[in-house]
Amino acid sequence: MNLFDYTRADTLEAAMGADGAILAGGTNLLDLMKIGVATPSRLVDITRLPMRGIDDHNGGLRIGAMVSNADLARDPRVLARFPAVAEALLSGASPQLRNAASTGGNVMQATRCSYFQDPLSPCNRRQAGSGCSAIGGVTRNHSVLGWTDACIATHPSDLCVALAAFDAVVEIAGPTGRREMPMAEFHPLPDATGVPPALAAGEVITHIRLPDPGGMARHARYVKLRERTSYAFAIVSAAAGVHVMDGRIVAARLALGGVAARPWRAHAAEAGLIGQPPSEDAFAHAAALALQGAAPSGDNAVKIVLAQRIAIRALMQAAAGTPDRMPALPASVFEGDVHG
Ligand SMILES: Cc1cc2nc3c(=O)[nH]c(=O)nc-3n(C[C@H](O)[C@H](O)[C@H](O)COP(=O)(O)OP(=O)(O)OC[C@H]3O[C@@H](n4cnc5c(N)ncnc54)[C@H](O)[C@@H]3O)c2cc1C
Ligand code: SF4
Repeated sequence: MNLFDYTRADTLEAAMGADGAILAGGTNLLDLMKIGVATPSRLVDITRLPMRGIDDHNGGLRIGAMVSNADLARDPRVLARFPAVAEALLSGASPQLRNAASTGGNVMQATRCSYFQDPLSPCNRRQAGSGCSAIGGVTRNHSVLGWTDACIATHPSDLCVALAAFDAVVEIAGPTGRREMPMAEFHPLPDATGVPPALAAGEVITHIRLPDPGGMARHARYVKLRERTSYAFAIVSAAAGVHVMDGRIVAARLALGGVAARPWRAHAAEAGLIGQPPSEDAFAHAAALALQGAAPSGDNAVKIVLAQRIAIRALMQAAAGTPDRMPALPASVFEGDVHG
């Protein structure tokens, strides 16, 4: 590990514009520093900033960037209004990690591309213009949507997929003022030379806002396909919400994980579901629309099929309704009251 300075920010202003890497839970950043992928000369610890609240906000929620993944998943309002967010969180990492990992850090976590994690391999995401070692390499975990020859890596977060599906907004503070971005657009897609950073220098995520889910609070699910039942990132995943009235879908949400450099919000699929009965046929059609334009970035064509299947399953489960008590997820302690 390189030598670095450490400072603890006592105010948001001190963290904003600070020259150095933001340190939240450290569960991702410290790992990257230990293997020489991240080499900041200064760490700016934000753990003392007052960003640990979850507040009601116009029927939705406003979540501080320092709320832990464990606290967020267990919050009764999250369970009642955003069960897919709770499911996504509890399908990730381990209880110990979720206690340390923060909301802002989960959003900002780095890709798990194995070439990115090897400082000796050229990687446009680490150093623009150096090349992409994944092209022609082992690519079964890489993108099938929105990739370019400059980078084919996926975004690994489960939480972000559920946040993108339910119209979450990222609140950002920086030296030039405050701004906000829809979660579904927050993570940049690769351009011709690499992947632009999501945040400008000195910017800090302060909160995530989730709007009122309306009729989808009781009809939302997150489904994750992975190689082991715990402690594994998604091969593909889907967050879905369905609002049915008089036997027809009046609103739908669908976002996919593990397929692109950002959680992939499937607007065409959602539009295609409006007015349809909540049937497997309608969901299969929507899933095909969600993967329109998908192409393998190597030997990962199977992801296109898997993503469609996981989308259908998530939509079916959402339409069936969120159970009053969520079943425990494999190898997680998730069993919570959804409706208080
Ligand atoms: C073994 C293992 C398994 C895992 N499995 C999963 C999984 O299945 N699903 C999943 O979604 N995640 C998984 N994770 C990732 C884990 O969720 C992240 O490491 C964690 O959420 C990062 O949060 P943190 O607070 O520790 O961030 P840190 O490590 O402190 O920071 C991560 C990055 O975010 C930046 N950052 C942090 N907070 C802010 C902020 N407020 N504003 C701006 N930048 C900020 C940091 O500068 C850094 O670049 C796993 C991690 C490990 C180690
Ligand atoms: S896929 Fe992206 S992150 Fe992976 S080596 Fe290529 S440029 Fe780097």
